[in-house]
Formats: sequence, C-alpha cells, structure tokens
Amino acid sequence: MNDRARRWTLIGVVAAGFAAFVAFHGWTWLSFDNLKHQQAWLHDAYERRPLLVAGAFALLYVVVAGLSLPGATILTLAAGAIFGLLPGTAIALVSSTIGASLAFLTARYVLRDAVERRFRTRLETIDRGLARDGAWYLATLRLIAVIPFFVINLVMGLTRMPVRSFALVSLAGMLPGVMVYVNAGTRLGELRSPAGILSPPVLASFAALAALPWLAKGGIAWWKRRATSGRWPPPRSFDHDLAVIGAGSAGLTAAAVAAQLGAKVVLVERERMGGECLNTGCVPSKALIRSARILAQSRRATAWGLRPGAVEADFAEVMAHVRSVVAQVAPHDSRARFESLGVQCRVGAARLVSPYVVAVDGRTETARAIIIATGATPAVPPIPGLREARPLTSDTVWELTALPRRLVVIGGGPVGCELGQCFARFGSQVTIINGALQLLDHEDPDIAARLAERFRAEGIRMVLGERVVHVEPGADGPVVASLGETGLSRHPCDAILVALGKRPATAGLGLEELGIALDGDGRIEVDEHQRTSVPNIYACGDVSSRHRFTHVAADQAWRAAANALLAPLSRQRWNDAAVPWITFTEPEVGRVGLSEAEASRRGIAVDVATCDLADNDRAIVEGEAEGLLKILTAKGSGTILGAAVVGPGAAELVGELTLAITHRIGLDRLVTAVHAYPSLGEAIARAGAAWKRRHTPRWQLSLLAAYVRLRRSTPRTRTAAALAAILLVAVVAAICLAIGAVLPGAAP
Ligand SMILES: Cc1cc2nc3c(=O)[nH]c(=O)nc-3n(C[C@H](O)[C@H](O)[C@H](O)COP(=O)(O)OP(=O)(O)OC[C@H]3O[C@@H](n4cnc5c(N)ncnc54)[C@H](O)[C@@H]3O)c2cc1C
Repeated sequence: MNDRARRWTLIGVVAAGFAAFVAFHGWTWLSFDNLKHQQAWLHDAYERRPLLVAGAFALLYVVVAGLSLPGATILTLAAGAIFGLLPGTAIALVSSTIGASLAFLTARYVLRDAVERRFRTRLETIDRGLARDGAWYLATLRLIAVIPFFVINLVMGLTRMPVRSFALVSLAGMLPGVMVYVNAGTRLGELRSPAGILSPPVLASFAALAALPWLAKGGIAWWKRRATSGRWPPPRSFDHDLAVIGAGSAGLTAAAVAAQLGAKVVLVERERMGGECLNTGCVPSKALIRSARILAQSRRATAWGLRPGAVEADFAEVMAHVRSVVAQVAPHDSRARFESLGVQCRVGAARLVSPYVVAVDGRTETARAIIIATGATPAVPPIPGLREARPLTSDTVWELTALPRRLVVIGGGPVGCELGQCFARFGSQVTIINGALQLLDHEDPDIAARLAERFRAEGIRMVLGERVVHVEPGADGPVVASLGETGLSRHPCDAILVALGKRPATAGLGLEELGIALDGDGRIEVDEHQRTSVPNIYACGDVSSRHRFTHVAADQAWRAAANALLAPLSRQRWNDAAVPWITFTEPEVGRVGLSEAEASRRGIAVDVATCDLADNDRAIVEGEAEGLLKILTAKGSGTILGAAVVGPGAAELVGELTLAITHRIGLDRLVTAVHAYPSLGEAIARAGAAWKRRHTPRWQLSLLAAYVRLRRSTPRTRTAAALAAILLVAVVAAICLAIGAVLPGAAP
C-alpha cells in the first residue's frame, strides 16, 4: 500500500468511527444520565472481572479520545465511579494520553503535508517558537483548558513537536484535571450534573498551576542575569543608556533610532563614519557602475538610432568622480550630523570590558545596553602566493588610479560580478574564476546563465567550477593558477581582485572574555530579537547576519535599538522571509525569498510563474528587451514564496514582490492590481495572469463557456435550460430535506 492509500485508509477508519458513533447514538451511551443509571451494574461487573472491565474501559477511552469523539469527560467521571480515585486516575490518565497521542499522530499523518505545502513559512515560524517554548505552551493549554483538548491534539499534530514530548507534557498537564473529575466520579451519587465540577476556585488553582512553568522560566532567566552581573556587577549609575560600537549602516541606524527615542547614546567608530556602505561598498560601487554603464551604452548608441560619438574612459577621472560621489553622500553619515541628533561620537577602537563598560583608547564609557555593529572585512584566504601578490579587495580597489590591463577576479559572487563587469567595460581584460559551476551561486542556474551570456558577449572570460590553488610571480605580473576537472590552468594578470566574501569583525572586541557566543562562521550569535548570549548586549548588521546588505543591517539595527532600550515593552523580531537583494550588473539580478533550487532542496512543492522580459513593451522601448521574471508560489495556492529577476529594473520588480510577500498578498490578488503601461511591472501582471489561467479549474471555464453559448442560443433553448436548472435545484433540495429527516433529532 502506498502512502496515499494508507492516508485514505486512515481517513476511512476515522470516518467509520464517527459514522458508528452517530448510527449507534454514542452520545446517549456516553451521557451523564446513562452513567448514573448504569453505575451499579458497572461496579458489579468490575467486582466480578476486574481486569477485563479495566481493559475494556481503557480501550473505549483510547478510541473515544483517539477519534476525538465527545464523551471523554463522562468516561473520566466513570473511571472514578468504577475504579476509585487512584486506580481511576491512573487508567483515565494513561488512556487519555494514549488517545490524545493517537489523535495527534493522525492529524500529523493526514494533514501536516497539505498544510505545510500551503503555509510553509508560517509553520516554520511556529515550529521555531514551539521548539523553544512548545512544552510550556502545551502545559498551559492543558492546565487552563481554554481550548477543548481534541482541538489541542489536532493542532499540535500539525507542528513538528516530537510525539514523546507531546505525550509526556500532556500526561503531566492533564493530571490535575483528570484527578478532579475522577474524584467527582467517586461521589457520582451526589452529583446532579457534571457542570459544576470545575468550580471557580478549582479553575483559579489550575490557572495558578499553569502560571508555574512561566514563573520557573522567568526565574531561570533572572538567575542567568544574576550570574552575569555577579561576575560583572552593574555600575550604580550609567553614563549612557546605550553604547553603539561601529558607525556603519547598522551602527548609524541604531544610534539615530536611540536618539529619537530620547536615549543618551554614545557611538564609537575606529575608522570612517559611514562604514563600508559609504566608503568602500554600495556608494562607490554604484557610482562606478553608473560610469561604466554610460560608457557601454554609448558604444551601443546605434541600437537607439544614434551615431556613436567619442565617449572614452579616463579611469583616473572616473575614480575621482567616484570619490566625489562618496564625498557628496558623506555628510548624511557625518559626525556633525549625528551630534546634531544628540548622539555622542567617540573615535577609537572599542573593547568590551564588562557587559556594561566599553573601553575606547584608554577611556571607559558605561551603558545599560550595548549594540555591537562592527561589520565584516573582506576575506583573503590563505592561498599560497596570494598575499605576496598584494591582491586588491573591495576595501582597497578604490585606491587604484590606473586601469589594470589584465584583471583576475577571484570569486563570482555579487561583488566580483559587479566590479568585474565595470573593469571590463573600462577596458581591462577580465577573467572571473569561480569555484561553483555558475556565477552567483545563490541564484537559480537559469537566472545566472543569462548574466553569464551577457558577460561572454562583453568579452569577460569566466572560469567556472575551478578553485584557485596558488599564485606565482610571472614575467610581467602575477599568474593565478586554478584547478578544475580538466587540470591546472594559468591566468597571467596585472592585478588580482579577491571577492570571496567577508569575515565578521570581532577580533579585539573582548567577546571571548564575556562569553559572547559565535557561530561556526565566526558571526556573533543572536536570537530573533538581535540579543547575544549576554542579555544586555545586542548585535546587528554584517557582524552577526547571514544576509550582508545595508538594508538588512539597518532593519536589524532599529529593532536592536528598540529592544535594547524598551525591552520588555518592545520585542521587535527580525524575520528573513522577505529579504530582497540585488546584484547591480547589467542585466540586473534581483531576488527575494525562496529560489527554485532552495525550494527543491528543502522539499517545498512550488509552482513557478514566469514572464520573458523580451516580450515586455517597456523593455523593448528601452532597447533592453532581455531577461526573465520568475515567481514561486506554494503548490496549489497563490501564496508567493519567492521571486527572481534577471533583466532591466530587477530592483523595482523585486520591490513589488517583496511587498506582496511581506503583507501576504497572493499572486492571485497581486494580478488584480492595475499596472501602468508601458512599465516593467506589467511583467508581474503577465506572469500572474498565466498563473491564474493554469490554476482556474477546467469545470469553471467549461461552465463559463456554456453560459456564453447559452446566451447565443434561441429563446426556446434558454427556457428549456432554465427549467432544467430549476428541476436540478428542486431535486437537490429534496435530497437535503430527506437527509435531515433521517438524521436523529433526539435520543431514543
Ligand atoms: C563592493 C560592495 C558593494 C556593496 N553594495 C551593496 C549594495 O548595493 N546594497 C547593499 O545593501 N549592500 C551592499 N554591500 C554590503 C554593505 O556594504 C554592507 O552589508 C553594510 O555596509 C554592512 O553594514 P554594517 O554596519 O553591518 O558594517 P560596516 O559598514 O562594515 O560598519 C562597521 C563599522 O564598525 C567599525 N568598527 C569595527 N570594529 C570596531 C571597533 N572595535 N571599534 C569601533 N569601531 C569598529 C568599522 O570601522 C566600520 O566602520 C556592498 C558591499 C561591498 C563590499
């Protein structure tokens, strides 16, 4: 029997159980009156055949709880009436736990896959929360009994909670309630109804019991905090509410938000205000890209019906322009601006002396909370001969004043691709060596292939699937050796640019002494509130994030600042389900959420709606009619899980799709928004329309076609069709009435 058949068999068994319960008037048998009526007989039977009666009772209890049938309360009372307090409690508790676990497993087996397909991202968040606090939540629900037990069993089955934890917590959580009912059952003769058993004082005691686990949790957190402050007692008063280390995108945002909240905040920077984004990252790279793009477009002037003029690159001038752009943006991140916001700025390398004290060049500052936003520095791997060749990195490439004739870029990620294409456009012979078999290894192969196609057309050499093994001096510059399936190949050059990612800047911060945990990649470990393993110290941006972008750094930073200053009032959570990123090559590459490759790796079933940008009127008008838009939706629903674009305006297209994912606007709804003509946004509408066509059931289309045909037909045919429809409605109504009459209205 395959999985599907097994699932249907299980559904059949549950449905048969329900049908039997209804057919044999189960609720009458499991009623309070019937229990009182049969009490003497049941007791008698137990006296004569104790094991048989106990076994049969337990089996009945398991079936009722397992099939989520009404009657568990009466059975618990019966356990007291038949077996007495202690044996009754044991039998009812074990049976109800087994039954609850069976219901839990049934829900998981029958429904989990289908629910997961539709609500994967939401379930992932719930599972993460449950992995941490699931046992506490379950115990609370069992104790306060705010939600009927059968609902708890079914809902918990949809999560990833291990069945053992579910059973053990349920056993403990149900014990007080079961005891109260079994105890009431021992005095069944005095009871008039089960309604008053859970009196307000009993309910209040349960609520107090439910609060116990949370009090214990709070107590443990308090104890941990005391253990920290025991080693480093907090000062009697603080110089600042918040100290921020690092004045890059993350640190600046955190400091600005803290100042806006009225906090006393000190910001420490050891080098340049603005960090990487302003000085060596986004700003200079985008200025360089703009110059390179204008140059490339001027060479293609004929494509727009223009005669090409003499636009040539003067590399030194271009770099001077790049520096002037940085200088224009610099005031936004300057010390003067931040001091005008009320932030105290210090220059120097910061070191944590305790969870409350930061040392900066021999001076100390105390703060109630600290945010570490020290970023990351370009990684230069220990490849033999590489350091001796004095390679460029994204930090130092901006110091160049002469264009290297031959440039080898090690790394085909976003930085390698963006800068590689710029240098090629200015006239360098560029070779990009990448270990993966494609450029941009985080993107889907079909997306990366379009970029590679353009790079090839622009004369960029790509050496894919090869690892750089050493660098040796050559006759006229270094020679980079890479190893691939076909053996060793050599790439002579004048300069090497290493673009192999970055290393978190944690050295010299004193993290080890404070016990601040790092992950396997050297990033500071933080929870979803950006809190490190030391409760009053937070981290954000490149130093702690898997996603290294300015917008991510800023988003994490305001959350960290709000949490650091306002906790427990503020509990801002960072969530990476809808993080967009763009590689500013030509064509641009944009992504948000899941890629197709990731979805298949994680076993998530998706539908992919696509639109070829070659067919987009705006792209044609602009003379940039190439590219691809892909939108991933959860299989069988409009929920957008991710999108990828390669082509013009990728950043803008991804922006709209990010909004849709963030606010859970499905593709079926997104397609109903009016997109201006001519715009690239129409590509989203087209992909959505194609998706809608594919997902409209055939019968709906046939019905509509039939309606249109009918409107074309003769009046006689229309009258006949109307009569047939009335007849059909009458027959259905008659069947419904008949079923209503057959169904039992009262107990016999
Ligand atoms: C070439 C290139 C292009 C990029 N383009 C983009 C882009 O287009 N879009 C985008 O979103 N992202 C881009 N990025 C990434 C972006 O620059 C970073 O993600 C972002 O700047 C990280 O900000 P941060 O505040 O975490 O770190 P940083 O900006 O690195 O700031 C950290 C600061 O902390 C300081 N610091 C470190 N240690 C100490 C210490 N002990 N005491 C005091 N100060 C200290 C450093 O000097 C630095 O100023 C690009 C990166 C590169 C290299």
